[in-house]
Amino acid sequence: MKEKIYTIPLTDAFSEGGECPFCTLEKKLEAEQVSYALGASMMEPDSRILSNEKGYCRRHFEQMSHESKALSLALVLDTHLNELIEKLESVAKIPEAKGGLFKKTVDIAPILEVLKKKEESCLICEKIQHTLEKFAEVFWYLYKNEPDFKEKVLECQGFCLPHFQLLITCAQRELSGKALSEGLRDITALELDNLKRINEEVNWFTKKFDYRYQNEPWHNSKDAPQRAMEKLSKFL
Ligand SMILES: [Zn+2]
Ligand SMILES: [Zn+2]
Repeated sequence: MKEKIYTIPLTDAFSEGGECPFCTLEKKLEAEQVSYALGASMMEPDSRILSNEKGYCRRHFEQMSHESKALSLALVLDTHLNELIEKLESVAKIPEAKGGLFKKTVDIAPILEVLKKKEESCLICEKIQHTLEKFAEVFWYLYKNEPDFKEKVLECQGFCLPHFQLLITCAQRELSGKALSEGLRDITALELDNLKRINEEVNWFTKKFDYRYQNEPWHNSKDAPQRAMEKLSKFL
């Protein structure tokens, strides 16, 4: 199987436990990509081209600034700014108003297009998204073909909602017929069971603030609100 490189990290993420193995993967990918952006990427012309063109989002610029690589970061910013200015200059030719003949509106669509594209683009976010799609494909391949993996999945604590969405969308592309309907049924039942589980844990957390339950044990509810938030929302 050509996607062997994805199998080990995927299996490891399921062994680690937690509210979403794909969030575990995403955290690792993010850390790798942030250090790559200021390390090996600097030496690779193709990577530099992409970095200059796309740039990074605020979250990832901030993480890059914590890498203690001030010069690398400044070099990345320098060439990215160069390219951005060039692009903006090419569209930002706003005509001067000439008396009463001038039209009341100015077409800013080309500038907005450049800015919008820039706002939405982050090389690290894009790479993470692309790699997670690959992991999702390998997930379904292993689920269908490796009984040990399937067992691991069915014992896990489900997924965060965005990654649950990633998985069911990917199932539709990767599987068909019986494998598709069984896979979707399994994963949806797993997700619902675990949403109910976390709901109960959060509910017990709220009860612990009631004097009648003061002397009852916390069970594993102490961090339930934190885990519930992870379950419900996007990591990135
Ligand atoms: Zn997740
Ligand atoms: Zn980003």
